[in-house]
Amino acid sequence: MTNSSARLLIVGPQGSGKGTQGVRVASALRIPVVSTGDIFRANIKEGTELGQKVTAILDAGDLVPDELTSEIVRDRLSQDDAQGGFLLDGYPRNTAQVAHLDEYLSGRGVALDAVLLLDVPRPESIARLRQRALEQGRSDDTEETIARRLDIYEQETAPILEVYGQRGIVDHIDGVGSLNEVTERIAAALSARGVLATA
Ligand code: ADP
Repeated sequence: MTNSSARLLIVGPQGSGKGTQGVRVASALRIPVVSTGDIFRANIKEGTELGQKVTAILDAGDLVPDELTSEIVRDRLSQDDAQGGFLLDGYPRNTAQVAHLDEYLSGRGVALDAVLLLDVPRPESIARLRQRALEQGRSDDTEETIARRLDIYEQETAPILEVYGQRGIVDHIDGVGSLNEVTERIAAALSARGVLATA
């Protein structure tokens, strides 16, 4: 699989497996993953100024302010390795962030090629997150925070799909199945768009 100019976004509820699938797809396409959750967690771990600013927000399951998040993403997307494409995971997460991203990308004369929506029913998401809490102990995988994050997803993130849907770039992917099955569904959707050349 080769393609050097794919600009992708992967969206799905918490527990949908978008992080795992995003890494797989991006490595097949040789493009970097830009995950806002990973960027924030790395900063928290390293105790940077940004990390200190966002720790309490992540632990509560709330969203980091849009301006701050968008600035971080713009900086990341401006780096050399993202010029030939990228896969966004976790950003944009509401319509204000869509507007920020649109402004940035259109200023550079580019646009997203596809938005991969991983569909997973809420009970399945909750079950997977409980399992992850047992295995990984992520500090935002508590019962209360999981419910809060899923609520925010349904209220704030799901509406971005209407915006991208109107542009005709959303691919609905059934996220229930084995990791490989889901990866194959994504690969099929991308190749139907001519984004992914299967080798
Ligand atoms: P999940 O999708 O399981 O909530 P992420 O790793 O995508 O996990 O995000 C973890 C946390 O990081 C979010 O709950 C939020 O606090 C913060 N975050 C990530 N992306 C964004 C964003 N685009 N805007 C605001 N906050 C964000």
